Formats: sequence, structure tokens, C-alpha cells
Amino acid sequence: MRKFFHEFKEFAMRGSVIDLAVGVIIGGAFQKIVNSLVTNVISPIIGLFAKSNFDNLSADFMGVSVKYGAFITEFINFIIMAFVIFLMIKLLNGLRNIHRKDEAEEAPTTKKCPFCMSEININATRCPHCTSILETEDNTEHTEDIEDAEIVSE
Ligand SMILES: [Zn+2]
Repeated sequence: MRKFFHEFKEFAMRGSVIDLAVGVIIGGAFQKIVNSLVTNVISPIIGLFAKSNFDNLSADFMGVSVKYGAFITEFINFIIMAFVIFLMIKLLNGLRNIHRKDEAEEAPTTKKCPFCMSEININATRCPHCTSILETEDNTEHTEDIEDAEIVSE
């Protein structure tokens, strides 16, 4: 039993679980707001045109009442939620791309030749000015970063 609690504690203390819990709580609260907006504001306005409370609209069909008003209310609810989530994801992706672009611009494209101190291409293995052979230890890492950033910005 102690092992069980220990495993549960490890599971609960993981960062992703806490993130998920926050997401679920905020999502739930947000859904309540959208629900309220649709049932209390949008549905009555549509109801003005239908000349009755839109939410309560129903049609008798072979003895059973089809509550299409409530269904359409739920449907509008869903459309608004989907649209807002789409906007949020678009915003987050935009912010991420801006961040990546900054990193790409900060990545150096030139270096100083240690022999003649002139600016040369970062990938150069031989200085074009003094023809000295240069050491290239971390050059491959830099080029990979730049290539990745270019693919993202496209
Ligand atoms: Zn040089």
C-alpha cells in the first residue's frame, strides 16, 4: 500500500499532470462562460426573430417533441468554442514563430579569423584573407540551427 501511494505521488508531482489539471480547470470555467453567453445572450436574440424563447423551440412529430431549438443552441455553443480555440492556437503558434525568428537572427553567420582578425564566413575552414587553416569544432551545430529556423519560418 505504501508503494501505491508513493507511485501516485510521483505521478501527481510530474509537471505535465499539473499542467493538464490547470488546463482542464481553465477549460471547464471557460466552457461555462461560453455556455452562458450562448444560452443567456445569443439564444434570446435569435429568439427575437423566432418570436419565442429559442431554447424551448420544439416541433411535434408523430407524438414526440423534437427539441431542435436546444440542439441548435448547443451547436452554436460548439462553433464558438471551436472558433475561440482556433484563435488561441493561432496566437500561440504566432508567438512561437516570432520567438524562433529572433533566435535565427541572433545566430552568428560570421566569425573572426584568429590569425588576421578579419570577418569571414562561419563555415569557412580556411581564411580567404590570410589562407590560414581554421579549426571547426561547433560549426556544424550552428548551421543545423539556421537551417531548422528557415524551415519553420517558411
Ligand atoms: Zn585570416
